Amino acid sequence: MLTSPLDPKDAIARKIVNAGDYSLCTIQCGQTLRIVDLYGNQAADTLFYNAHNPCERYSAMDTIREQHNLYLSVGSTLRSNLNGIMLEIVADTCGRHDTIGGACATESNTVRYGLEKRCMHACRDSWMLAIAEHPEYGIHKRDITHNINFFMNVPVTPDGQLSFADGLSAPGKYVELKAHMDIVMLMSNCPQLNNPCNGYNPTPIEWLIW
Ligand SMILES: [Zn+2]
Repeated sequence: MLTSPLDPKDAIARKIVNAGDYSLCTIQCGQTLRIVDLYGNQAADTLFYNAHNPCERYSAMDTIREQHNLYLSVGSTLRSNLNGIMLEIVADTCGRHDTIGGACATESNTVRYGLEKRCMHACRDSWMLAIAEHPEYGIHKRDITHNINFFMNVPVTPDGQLSFADGLSAPGKYVELKAHMDIVMLMSNCPQLNNPCNGYNPTPIEWLIW
C-alpha cells in the first residue's frame, strides 16, 4: 500500500466511466494515470497498447514471469508481449489487482452463470464496440487479449485453483501507474450483474491523468 502525493486539482484530464461503458484514451510517456474505484469492489477490465504500434500490447504472462508474482501492486512493472516496460504501478491503496481471471464475455457468462445469461452485456462486447467506433487507434480483434482486472481479487489456492473472492477494494481506493512509453488504454468498466464479488451492483470508475 502506498498513497500518492498527486492532487486531483492538478490533473490535466479526468473522466468518470459508468459501468457498462468503455474508455479509450492516450497516456503519454512520463504521465501518470490514476484509476479510482469510486464506490468500491468494482472491476476495471483494462488493456494497454503501445500508442505507435498496437501490435505491442500488455502481456499478463511476460509481466508475471518478470516479477515472479501473480498479483499486481506497487512495484509491479507491466510488460508487453515484446517484454517492453509499458507502465509501472507507483501508488496503490487497494493492494491487489488481478491479471489471470480474464475479462467477462458472453461465452464465460454462459459457462459460469447459465445459458440464459448469454445475451447479457460483457466486457468483451464493450472492447469490441470501442475498436469498432474508433478505428483511428488501429486496434483489431486479434489485439484483444489478456487483461488486467483492476480492483478485482482472484487469489490462487495452495493447490493452484483460481478463486473469485470478495474484493479487497472499498470506495475511493485507487491505483496509479506511470507510463514508460506512449500508451493507449482501453478500459471496460465491467457491467457484470451475476458475480457476487461486486455485490451484483456494478458502479462507476474514474480515471485521472497528470
Ligand atoms: Zn467484465
